[in-house]
Amino acid sequence: TLLLAVLAGLVLAWSLLRREVARNSTGWEIAQGIRNREFFTHYQPIVTAEHGECVGVEVLARWRHPVQGAIRSDLFIPAAEDAGLIVPLTRYLIRRVTKELKQVALPPGFFVGINIAAEHLGMPDLVEDCKILLAVLREKKAVLVLEVSERFPLPEHQVTHRVVQDLRQMGVKLALDDFGIGHADRNYLRRWGFDYLKVEKGYVSALGKDSFKTNILDGLLQTSHQLGVQVIVKGVETQGQQNYLSVKGFEFLQGFYFGKPMTLNHFRQWLYSGIT
Ligand code: C2E
Ligand code: CA
Ligand code: CA
Repeated sequence: TLLLAVLAGLVLAWSLLRREVARNSTGWEIAQGIRNREFFTHYQPIVTAEHGECVGVEVLARWRHPVQGAIRSDLFIPAAEDAGLIVPLTRYLIRRVTKELKQVALPPGFFVGINIAAEHLGMPDLVEDCKILLAVLREKKAVLVLEVSERFPLPEHQVTHRVVQDLRQMGVKLALDDFGIGHADRNYLRRWGFDYLKVEKGYVSALGKDSFKTNILDGLLQTSHQLGVQVIVKGVETQGQQNYLSVKGFEFLQGFYFGKPMTLNHFRQWLYSGIT
């Protein structure tokens, strides 16, 4: 039995070691990728529910690995979070978006959504990171919206509250992303003063199939108005879904039905000529 225990221990140690090596090597590749500018941006339109008019975009990170090619963001984002690299990656993307949007004319009041990890809002550096982008957006009368996922609660520290307060004073808006999957309640929304709720796409795909989720979605508008937040529904793929949501009175929609995430050049063409 002793020999067996030792063997089991060795197997466990070996698998832990392999996992650690794999984790570090992904981290190393991401760090390398940031240095080599392998990450870039896509822009996905956000439209009014009623007329499908584009009123904003969400910036989505993309990675073209030199050997493996395109890597899905639902793989590399969690890997970057695990490796402690989500903040440098986001910082790089913000700079990139700043340069890109400098060259584009945007409709007044246009909002630009950027995904920010909860831990990043606990860092005073974020305020500095946003300043250059804000300068560009202000010139165009556009608004910066930071999308924070419900997956990880915002850290309850004084620093986080200060960062949020500073951003707010600079005119930055906050969106609670992936709404409907996690822990957020009325108090959480109030405490951080979210301006927008972005409903997780599972709720739209459940329309007409899952009455439990459909009821939650139907009730959300009233709740959101009581809380003074506006709702953005993600994952709209059909005209039927748009009709349903606009009749209900939802404000903003996002999804493949209106436009997929695209390069800035494509987005520009899409915006000014309706070509997808
Ligand atoms: P998300 O914030 O929920 O972003 C929306 C995701 O839904 C995007 O996936 C988008 O391509 C996809 N999507 C949009 N419309 C539709 C639709 O009609 N149907 C379906 N089935 N999907 C749709 P993507 O680009 O793969 O991003 C996945 C997630 O990775 C994002 O989810 C976000 O949480 C994260 N992410 C992406 N870029 C960044 C980033 O720069 N920073 C951080 N922290 N996270 C990011
Ligand atoms: Ca998002
Ligand atoms: Ca999501």
